[in-house]
Amino acid sequence: MTQEDLAQQREQMVETQLESRDIQSERVLEAMKKVPRHLFMPESVRQYAYIDSPVPIDQGQTISQPYIVGLMTQTVDPKPGDRALEVGTGSGYQAAVLGELVQEVYTIEIIPDLAERAGKTLSDLGYDNVEVRQGDGYQGWPEKAPFDIILITAAPEKIPQPLIDQLAEGGRLVVPVGPQGEIQTLTLVTREKGEVKRTYITDVRFVPMTGEVQQLR
Ligand code: SAM
Repeated sequence: MTQEDLAQQREQMVETQLESRDIQSERVLEAMKKVPRHLFMPESVRQYAYIDSPVPIDQGQTISQPYIVGLMTQTVDPKPGDRALEVGTGSGYQAAVLGELVQEVYTIEIIPDLAERAGKTLSDLGYDNVEVRQGDGYQGWPEKAPFDIILITAAPEKIPQPLIDQLAEGGRLVVPVGPQGEIQTLTLVTREKGEVKRTYITDVRFVPMTGEVQQLR
């Protein structure tokens, strides 16, 4: 398949899966037209890069459905000067989309092989404003906090307090909350004038957030 064919598939993905639903942010739509999603996937599943579904990557993990990436990204309303934290790097695709939209992206992945591969893909593609760290994202990235945006792409049963604490004044955090294997609640957390507010966005199904958060149950 040529680069032009792939760009056309991306364009179609954006029109039929995002714009036709409720993704209206021009900046988000443009970023998702641009990022070569297939390059974030193992070769064996690249033919599914632009379908309307999550796709298994490796280690029992998934690259989220394009619509969910669009929805989470639009929900945190990225601004060019923002600093963003992602917990759950996975393939690195969501981090690349954020990298197109904000100034700095810090992303944490608990599975070493995935962290290594995502770091390589992102640097091969020139995303110099995205830094990948291997580890448990439960404690966030205190040296780089506070963040204007925090995006958690694995589901905890309860939102880790250290992540809420690392949200800047005016910041937006989006997270799927709920037990493994059940419907979870995509939730927006904002901090305004010091007050933390939660808003329901929609029902979703994500892989669980693992590590320290699971010891708190
Ligand atoms: N954002 C990813 C992408 O664009 O490909 C998809 C993320 S996948 C749905 C969820 C990821 O969260 C998995 O790679 C999983 O290993 C990771 N994860 C789960 N618990 C974590 C934790 N405590 N800290 C960091 N990463 C975690």
